[in-house]
Amino acid sequence: MDTTDLHTEAWEGIRNSCDAGRLAHAYIIVGSPRGNALQFAESFLKLLYCESSEKPCNHCTNCRLIDSHKHVDTLWLEPQSKARKIKADEVRGLVHRMTQTSFEGGWKAGILVSAECMNVNSANILLKTLEEPPPKTILLLLTDSPQSLLPTIISRCQKIMLSKGTNDAADTVWQEPLMEIMREFPPDGGLDAARLAGRLKSILDTVKTEIAYVVEEELGNNDEALDESKLKDVLDARTNARLKEVQSEVFRIMLDWHRDILLLVCRADAEHLVFPDEQSVLEGQALRHTQASALQAIQVVEGMVRRVDRNIPAAQIFDEAFRKLVKRL
Ligand SMILES: [Zn+2]
Repeated sequence: MDTTDLHTEAWEGIRNSCDAGRLAHAYIIVGSPRGNALQFAESFLKLLYCESSEKPCNHCTNCRLIDSHKHVDTLWLEPQSKARKIKADEVRGLVHRMTQTSFEGGWKAGILVSAECMNVNSANILLKTLEEPPPKTILLLLTDSPQSLLPTIISRCQKIMLSKGTNDAADTVWQEPLMEIMREFPPDGGLDAARLAGRLKSILDTVKTEIAYVVEEELGNNDEALDESKLKDVLDARTNARLKEVQSEVFRIMLDWHRDILLLVCRADAEHLVFPDEQSVLEGQALRHTQASALQAIQVVEGMVRRVDRNIPAAQIFDEAFRKLVKRL
């Protein structure tokens, strides 16, 4: 099952809590509600219901019932209407069933797919259950936009972040090419800076195409019909949101890279490097820096992050920043 392979840390956390009998009453699973978050939730439920000693076995009756969303003690709720709303009545129904004894005498689970589709009324009904959860019940809220949930809901749930997995296909597209760019730092001059900035821009363009493809597939798997114009809006919004995630990841790597250089310039212990595998390359680059210039490079990258937040075009940001990073020793 790929979920467990993809998100080992999150998965191990849940598995340990489960073994120790210390599960929370509610979890927000952040990822694609039709993709990795859904897979994670199904695996999670199998841990609770699987009949085998090696959980989850994926073969026993309960595991199969969970796969088909037909297990009697698991209650699935997802937006049905065209408006993609989870209605208050539906949440009320779920909450009511959660308070009843389970058929099999074990756990009772409620799963909200695309939990961000709850309106305030729906969310408030759910909140009451979160405040006083019935014993042996568990709620799983699947969402790709946790920021759309009420803060009062968020604060009562444990968060499981899977967002990286969402971009898995895209991740392989940019990570190594970015490292190749970093290994060529600092740029030799303006022309070199422009060349490297152009490469980074084209990497992100590829990422965007890749993400759009994944998002389109997710929306295509969605059985409810969105009309054409709305589909385009949702596609664009989700693609851009994920592209932004990748961009901040890119900046984080650039920042860590330059912090490693500063570390080496200051002759700090190399065991603290974020990129120990790149030590020899980093040492080579550190030779071309003073403490002041290494510090300045970090500030330039931090400046890039701020400018992206102000919606300045990426190409312009990269170009200007990389020019500032040209070595002038
Ligand atoms: Zn099983």
